[in-house]
Amino acid sequence: MINSTKIEDLRPDVAANCRIFLELCKQETGFPLGISSTVRDDEWQRYAVSQGWAPKTATVPTFHSIKAGLAFDIFRNVKGREWDNSDKFFDKCGAIALKMGFVWPISKSDLGHIQWGGPKRNWTNAQILRGEYPPEMPLYKIESEEEEMRYNTLSEIPNYAKSFVKSLCDKKILVGGGIVDADGYPADMNLTDDMIRTLMLTEKRLAKITDDLK
Ligand SMILES: [Zn+2]
Repeated sequence: MINSTKIEDLRPDVAANCRIFLELCKQETGFPLGISSTVRDDEWQRYAVSQGWAPKTATVPTFHSIKAGLAFDIFRNVKGREWDNSDKFFDKCGAIALKMGFVWPISKSDLGHIQWGGPKRNWTNAQILRGEYPPEMPLYKIESEEEEMRYNTLSEIPNYAKSFVKSLCDKKILVGGGIVDADGYPADMNLTDDMIRTLMLTEKRLAKITDDLK
């Protein structure tokens, strides 16, 4: 009788996304997650039905079957609060599952169940039983921080630094790559706020040294 809780028993593409899912849920909810089931065999499924853990009609495993490896069940890994949804723990995890492309929820009484049902989320139990499995689940890319603003022309430079950057251009310290604006100033400065601040501090420091030398 097999009822695994190991992520590596899932299909590799689902396993990889399952690991990302667990990490994202932990970040979002502040609680560690546990896995109560990944894959199971026919014998265990019949046993689960006999114990009332699975619906009477679910006599053979489908998405959870050893051959499929497309579903896993989660719980909150905190003693006494495993299935507690009073703080919408499962809803928060479910929202992440949906964002990643998983199917959730399959029923209101089974909020811990997550499965991969293809890009249209419409794969059926019947298909699985016929041995037709959904295509590979794309590896979820975690959204990165928005790319930092880059300023290319004097008019784009924020007011706090406009005259400073203009003076760098006038002194030919900042020359750019040759593309110029209507006034002849570089139009390909490629400056970030961090770079501007560093340049300003450097200038201040140099002024101080020059002063000290007087
Ligand atoms: Zn399940």
